[in-house]
Amino acid sequence: MTEIESIRTAILDGADGETVGALPLPEAFRAAVVRAEEQEMFAGLPSEEKDPRKSTHVEDVPLPELAPDEAYVAVMASAINFNTVWTSIFEPLPTFQFLKRLGKESVWGARHDQPFHVMGSDASGVVLRVGSAVRNWKPGDQVTIHCNYVDDQDPSAHDDSMMAVNQRIWGYESNFGGLAEVALVRANQIMPKPAHLTWEEAACNALCNSTSYRMIVSPNGSQMTQGQTVLVWGATGGIGAYAAQYVMNGGGTPVGVVSSPERVELLHAMGVEHVIDRKAEGYQFWKDEHTQDPGEWRRLGKKIRELAGVDPDIVFEHPGRSTMGASVFVCKRGGMIITCAATSGFTIEYDNRYLWMMLKTLKGCHFANYREAWEANRLIGEGKIHPTLSVVYPLDETGEAAAQVHHNLVEGKVGVLCLAPEEGLGVTNPELREQHLDQITLFRRHHKGASA
Ligand code: NDP
Repeated sequence: MTEIESIRTAILDGADGETVGALPLPEAFRAAVVRAEEQEMFAGLPSEEKDPRKSTHVEDVPLPELAPDEAYVAVMASAINFNTVWTSIFEPLPTFQFLKRLGKESVWGARHDQPFHVMGSDASGVVLRVGSAVRNWKPGDQVTIHCNYVDDQDPSAHDDSMMAVNQRIWGYESNFGGLAEVALVRANQIMPKPAHLTWEEAACNALCNSTSYRMIVSPNGSQMTQGQTVLVWGATGGIGAYAAQYVMNGGGTPVGVVSSPERVELLHAMGVEHVIDRKAEGYQFWKDEHTQDPGEWRRLGKKIRELAGVDPDIVFEHPGRSTMGASVFVCKRGGMIITCAATSGFTIEYDNRYLWMMLKTLKGCHFANYREAWEANRLIGEGKIHPTLSVVYPLDETGEAAAQVHHNLVEGKVGVLCLAPEEGLGVTNPELREQHLDQITLFRRHHKGASA
């Protein structure tokens, strides 16, 4: 039996921490990577034609040395994020540039500068080993991993670690991410695994759930209050589906925008009453590549008023170029447009008169600090926010899984099985699971229905 097989077997057999900590470590492990030598392979192609299936390889990579403040995690499951898509299509930049910069920072940083990049910014699994400076975690702990990768010796990382000058996203701006059999993480990325979830359900939350928590709930984001109305673009997507849950949990009213009748139905099933099908409405915010149509912004604003009776206090913005003009226009006087992305293009355009004359705020937001990620994970663990897992792929099909997200073909989250041999394993609190089973499996059932 290989070292990896022994690790998998021990975890599946429920081995105790002492046994897990004594297992021999492998010299190499399988991981989903892109290769530096291929970073120009899509040069000149439009984004839609850049194919993650061609650039993603699942191959053996050497186990890096463990720093004192780090842990090796045996990854049972991981998930695709949009940053997996960005890495695999080498947009907006090949991520090898990030790895080179990290490589120059320190001796430990140098481990990351490799001719391969192990992708993945989410994981659930079991701690295999901890470095000598790790205090709160030990081998055998069942964990999930958040992707805020900060240097806690940097003064700018204190207060709010997302403000750290060298803050990074693990598995995107660092190497040895979660789409692998073993992940290398800092101790301050580790959180307890929600006991009522399977490995794949537990693995899909941290990145998107924590981002939406910061954007909607945290004082570092829009800090929604009870009774506020929030326009959520892509409300069945990775971050949108958590945002919609946070709005409802906090006593707000979401107005969800999606692009198909099936997604409208899914949002209704989640409890979102006001839903706009942007395809059916046929919004054309851009008349041509250079000109927006304020008449179309107005039409969207009217639709929101028809549904919710008011203009949105908060606009949860991430499509970017295609929607920002409309988002700034429809937001309530004094309201906030909070943005964490620009999927459709990052050079955005809006009419500034609507921002300043109506005293609106446009605020940038990015992932979450440890405390925010921890709180978001706690809410999942208590069954107050639910995973949005739609479909699961084996590690060998990571490229296909990323292609599905690239082309907006799946609702919620796409999971990836790493060491878990099948779905459905890892639940240690079946009672809590039973209480929330319908919500936990909603996206999965919807996806199966759609593909049946
Ligand atoms: P998904 O692909 O899962 O969902 C995005 C949703 O946006 C889609 O479901 C789609 O919904 C909607 N959408 C896509 N294009 C457009 C468009 N042109 N106009 C209107 N709606 C559109 O991605 P995620 O939710 O995981 O991520 C969204 C973005 O946020 C990505 O760019 C990602 O990189 C970024 N992100 C940033 C984070 C940060 O920390 N800064 C963290 C997480 C994500 P529909 O078609 O149904 O309307």
